[in-house]
Amino acid sequence: MISLQKVNKSFVDGNEQYQVIDNVSLDIAEGTIHGIIGPSGAGKSTLLRMMNVLESPDSGSVQVNGLELTSLGSRALREARRSIGMIFQHFQLVGNRTAYGNVALPLELAKVPRADREQRVLEVMRYVGLEDKMRQYPAQLSGGQKQRVAIARALANSPSVLLCDEPTSSLDPKTTSGILDVLRKINRELGVTIVIVSHEMDAVHAICDRVSVMEKGRLTSTYDVNSSSGLSRTGLAAEASEASR
Ligand code: ADP
Ligand code: MG
Repeated sequence: MISLQKVNKSFVDGNEQYQVIDNVSLDIAEGTIHGIIGPSGAGKSTLLRMMNVLESPDSGSVQVNGLELTSLGSRALREARRSIGMIFQHFQLVGNRTAYGNVALPLELAKVPRADREQRVLEVMRYVGLEDKMRQYPAQLSGGQKQRVAIARALANSPSVLLCDEPTSSLDPKTTSGILDVLRKINRELGVTIVIVSHEMDAVHAICDRVSVMEKGRLTSTYDVNSSSGLSRTGLAAEASEASR
């Protein structure tokens, strides 16, 4: 589903050249939730942004849904990106648009007719449990609600992949559980392949099937989250149900 082969990326700063991504190869299976963890500055965000070529590699191959993204022209790339949603730590909502307007935006860009657009916005806002917040502006919403709007916006064009950059890092533990539940539901019910970059081990272990560890631009290991780490899984689930009582 997502395949990176020997990707490299360096940035020049003054006379120094930093190898931010160092010969990384990674395959992520369709329908899974894959975590990428590691310290700040390890290159996690840069690697995630390569998965939709927001950041293009200096060398190497980036394939999503069988398409080599690095070789696409701008029009074909725009098309391919519609099937790749993305959410961020600070939500990146458009402040002067309502929740409705934010979620409608990618549909407008995709030239979806108005009536279909309205129906789709209602559908995805219901899916994230915010159908009563359509007319609110981002400043009127809590952090968790803003992230739900961002998730609805990312889902608008029915993506097959959802890229999440520190999706819960600015949320409190209870709100984090709620957002993780939404992501889990999107994976289970809609079959969306999810990649989560985070420095929060607990959150990642709570929902990921597989996790890769990144350090100084390199992937140092990849492991299955199985019954041995099932403890943190149940731990978080228990916390979440405790919190919702
Ligand atoms: P992480 O998400 O793991 O914290 P990043 O991918 O954001 O790491 O960044 C890794 C390193 O690359 C950092 O040291 C950062 O300063 C550097 N970096 C990222 N993007 C750029 C850029 N556009 N220009 C120069 N340096 C960058
Ligand atoms: Mg980052």
